[in-house]
Amino acid sequence: MTHSSLLPQHPLSGTSGLSAGPDAIDAGLLTQLANDLFRDPPPNPAPQLPPSEPGAPTPDYYFLEPAPAAATGSPWNQAPAPFGLDTFQPELVPSLDPAPGPFDVHTVRRDFPILAERIHGKPLVWLDNAATTQKPNAVIDRIAAFYRHENSNIHRAAHDLAARSTDAYEGAREKVRRFLNAPSVQDIVFVRGATEAINLVAQSWGRRFIGPGDEIVITWLEHHSNIVPWQQLAAEKGARLRVAPIDERGEVILEEYEKLLNSRTRLVSLTHVSNALGTINPVKDLTALAHRHGAKVLVDGAQAVSHLQADVQDIDADFYVFSGHKVFGPTGIGVLYGRSEILNATPPWQGGGNMIADVTFERTVYHAAPARFEAGTGNIADAVGLGAALDYLSRLGLENVQRHEHELLVYGTEALSRIPGLRIIGTAREKAGVLSFVLEGHRPEEVGAALNREGIAVRSGHHCAQPALRRFGLEASVRPSLALYNTRSDLDALVAAVQQLQKGHPRY
Ligand code: PLP
Repeated sequence: MTHSSLLPQHPLSGTSGLSAGPDAIDAGLLTQLANDLFRDPPPNPAPQLPPSEPGAPTPDYYFLEPAPAAATGSPWNQAPAPFGLDTFQPELVPSLDPAPGPFDVHTVRRDFPILAERIHGKPLVWLDNAATTQKPNAVIDRIAAFYRHENSNIHRAAHDLAARSTDAYEGAREKVRRFLNAPSVQDIVFVRGATEAINLVAQSWGRRFIGPGDEIVITWLEHHSNIVPWQQLAAEKGARLRVAPIDERGEVILEEYEKLLNSRTRLVSLTHVSNALGTINPVKDLTALAHRHGAKVLVDGAQAVSHLQADVQDIDADFYVFSGHKVFGPTGIGVLYGRSEILNATPPWQGGGNMIADVTFERTVYHAAPARFEAGTGNIADAVGLGAALDYLSRLGLENVQRHEHELLVYGTEALSRIPGLRIIGTAREKAGVLSFVLEGHRPEEVGAALNREGIAVRSGHHCAQPALRRFGLEASVRPSLALYNTRSDLDALVAAVQQLQKGHPRY
């Protein structure tokens, strides 16, 4: 007996079609497979529970349905774990402290072990937060605890560790929902990061809903990850990419932005906070204007979420994306928020396990969001770590963080501006986190290397935002960037090192 005779016979071809190779599949089957690829799921796909013995108690494990609410009665629904492995208890529903205590940066710094490192014999001054943030013990310990106590694949097994890991993963989704004030956990898709989230929207939603002659609007402030996917899509579809200009301060020129919007605009994709200049875009107003023309709006929150409250309902965003590693969470995990109705009208991006409700060789029925966009085994442990990071930030209170960072931004801007030959790049009235500058007579890379010798970590280069810097006639800048654990002393060290360079070194 051959393998092909074991395979189910296709009703149209009379062969299995699969073992005989693609050439053997007839046109009807191909058409049907193609149609099925874009078949919408039933509105509420039924859970695929295994048959249980008559009279047996129903286990409260997950199988296929992400349903965090249903898990509140599970044995892992405990109070949040105190930091430290000794007292670790698996958690499900976090209780976010509704009244954060006073913000003491020196206490906060002790939560971040890496800040005690010494570089070239000097205490580390971490001012490269726009590239990535450091991780508190709460996150490091939570990930270790996951691997020590909970590790399992999720959703699909009738054993305790699968229940623990699924609870932890779906609990993290609920934390993200709460953090963004999204209406539902169904709107929260775990991805690798902001870049992957934008590519997912471009390649699934964009390919379905953007056609020849349609227009996509971005701004001059965008990170390359919010430019290139739209360029690729526009080239593929014969659509047009249009760019809203910025002024000398680094603010989007509203009248010019408005002029770009029309009935052909299908999507506006814009950053919440600029990574190169620190500009906070008035995303709520920009979104409202785009909606007036019937366009959907994607907000890139990669540089926003560690600095300010991102409320997707208040902004009225259709999509909102961010990366875990920029908000004190791990690398390799990020979030795509999308309105449920939009996500469920969007074809899946990748196919595989977890995203399907039912598969036969003839057709596949997809799950609704978020599972339809989470094919395969995801980054379970780091999603849990991200949940711990958001809890940590919520406990500190974003208003406290914002106040502290604003004070630092004003202090640092004033101090740097007094240095002869130093030009601040990006002077928007609303700014967060970033102090980009160039120093006359010194290449940005040279400044970065000199600061590194003093233990000060900054980024120097184009920051993956070449159009934004070129708008100011530059190919590169020095970019110190702030986070909640930075202090005035960090900025004093930065200013002293730049002054030293300016005084002591010959021009190149
Ligand atoms: N968008 C902005 C504004 C960014 O600053 C970055 C990274 O610096 C990204 C998107 C891409 O983030 P990731 O590399 O984590 O996907």
